[in-house]
Amino acid sequence: MDGKALAEKVRGEVAKDVEELGSLGLATILVGDDPASDVYVSLKHKDANEVGMRLIDKRLPANTPEDDVLALVEELNADDGVDGLLVQTPLPDHLDEFTILSSVRPEKDVDGLTPQNAGLLYLGRNGHVGATPLGVMRLLTEYRVPTAGARAVVVGRSPIVGKPMALLLLQANATVTVCHSRTDDLARHTLDADILVAAVGVPGLITGDMVKAGSTVIDVGITRTDAGLVGDVDQSVAELAAYVTPVPGGVGPMTRAMLLASTVKAARYRRGLLPFP
Ligand code: NAD
Repeated sequence: MDGKALAEKVRGEVAKDVEELGSLGLATILVGDDPASDVYVSLKHKDANEVGMRLIDKRLPANTPEDDVLALVEELNADDGVDGLLVQTPLPDHLDEFTILSSVRPEKDVDGLTPQNAGLLYLGRNGHVGATPLGVMRLLTEYRVPTAGARAVVVGRSPIVGKPMALLLLQANATVTVCHSRTDDLARHTLDADILVAAVGVPGLITGDMVKAGSTVIDVGITRTDAGLVGDVDQSVAELAAYVTPVPGGVGPMTRAMLLASTVKAARYRRGLLPFP
């Protein structure tokens, strides 16, 4: 599956939406100087620029007290020039991630990490949903991979990828199994999957002998190595699967593109063009 090409198409759609909506703003808050987070934030800015969105880049030192971070979130919540707002994770240890992420106004919460948006997803009345699981669903739709009645196995249960992924697949009428670090005999589950989503961060965890012939394998994992970025899925899977997403060039570009699409959605919520559920 070519995530790069599909991301290009999504960006084209977003650029049209931006034209229609007029000015649009995406704000990011980065606390501290984690190099990977810095790269992610810079890429988000580059993408937003390309589709004509305004970028509000807020950076705070690693030792910023929680109240000051919360005050900045409040300021951006109230700012009419900000449609989408995200706080880059991981946050430094002294900050409570739940408290800070929960303080984002739900209409602006493009990562879908407030209890409100997570709860709406749970209830099947989606507001904002994280860009990575949205990107995976868009890949499945684009490549016409049937989900209804399919057996889907999600490896990973994080709030940002695994859990929302499982819920979206469930909404698409798949029969969903969630595996994680304490799952016994992972292969017993993955071998059954028509759709396998690996979101772990262990290079090569999913090998050819763990996947069903003709299945669709989505590799969300990204690990930085000396040889570059590598996914969770071993090369040997390519011979068996009908579709595999490459790393890089699969889910990564789709995540970036879907964040822009979510910012458009946020703008529609805020302007009353779309009712917030
Ligand atoms: P996380 O560390 O929060 O979660 C990892 C999950 O994997 C956990 O739920 C854990 O239970 C499970 N796990 C760990 N070891 C396992 C094992 N041996 N067998 C089965 N399950 C195991 O990570 P995350 O934020 O969910 O991200 C997962 C991976 O996806 C990371 O590599 C991350 O870099 C990548 N990621 C990629 C994108 C993208 O755009 N492609 C976006 C977000 C995250």
